[in-house]
Amino acid sequence: MTEKKLSVTDHDRGSADLRYVYPVVSRRAGGVSVGINLNTNNACNWRCIYCQVPNLTRGAAPAVDMAVLENELRTFLDELLHGDFMESRVPADARRINDIALSGNGEPTSCAEFVQVIALIARVRREVALPEAVKTVLITNGSLLFRSEVQQGLRDMAKLNGEVWFKLDRASEAGMLLVNDTHTSISKVRNNLIAAIACCPTWLQTCWFALDGEPPSIQDEDDYLEFIGSLLREGHKPKGVLLYTLARPSLQAEAPRLSALSAEQLQAFAKRIATQGLPVKISP
Ligand code: SF4
Repeated sequence: MTEKKLSVTDHDRGSADLRYVYPVVSRRAGGVSVGINLNTNNACNWRCIYCQVPNLTRGAAPAVDMAVLENELRTFLDELLHGDFMESRVPADARRINDIALSGNGEPTSCAEFVQVIALIARVRREVALPEAVKTVLITNGSLLFRSEVQQGLRDMAKLNGEVWFKLDRASEAGMLLVNDTHTSISKVRNNLIAAIACCPTWLQTCWFALDGEPPSIQDEDDYLEFIGSLLREGHKPKGVLLYTLARPSLQAEAPRLSALSAEQLQAFAKRIATQGLPVKISP
């Protein structure tokens, strides 16, 4: 997943010269996010028209070399905690570790070793004595959360100050086909989201943008509000909504047709979401 997490400042995955682990330094968030990219083959089961993954292909993450991942994560966390990376590469006001984020060039939960990766993160966190306040974040399109092993991974993540960011850009089948280039049913999305909420604290992550100069329609807004309204009525409560617009150009063929919304447009939609009783954070 490449969304706002990587849109902030230094999002060059090669910047630490590692295969899986990459740092994202964010002055705005006031810290360093330790990214883990399991999709080293740039493969995702979706094709969002705003996706910023280069040479995106359809598919799943390749087999993970667990020894390499473990070594990279341990070495890099150790460097952040005890080396000079913070001093030499990070602005003074951002010299802390925000989170470990599973957020790569595709859908992280498509990785067959997902549960083992969470166990590895737990082990390394313990070994390097990472402060508990550091979150473990999963940025996901949510489409594979019906799998019991993925749910187990989420339950394990919850014990690591875990947080799921679940993509919901549109709440209609036609909207998801248009924006995410995926054929699905809203009841499947709903069930996947309910599973996420049951396993681990979950935020919705929503990208709102204009296509051919047209912002999302009132019908798009109504579909979204109806979706979260019915979820809340049945007692399934996400932590809130992370609402954002395009920060960097899409690398998909639709790129010239897309444009960002204004802060006012985002705020107007955020206000409508808030009427449902969910907190909304707008990301620049
Ligand atoms: S879910 Fe969408 S934005 Fe995320 S990696 Fe897949 S295609 Fe790209």
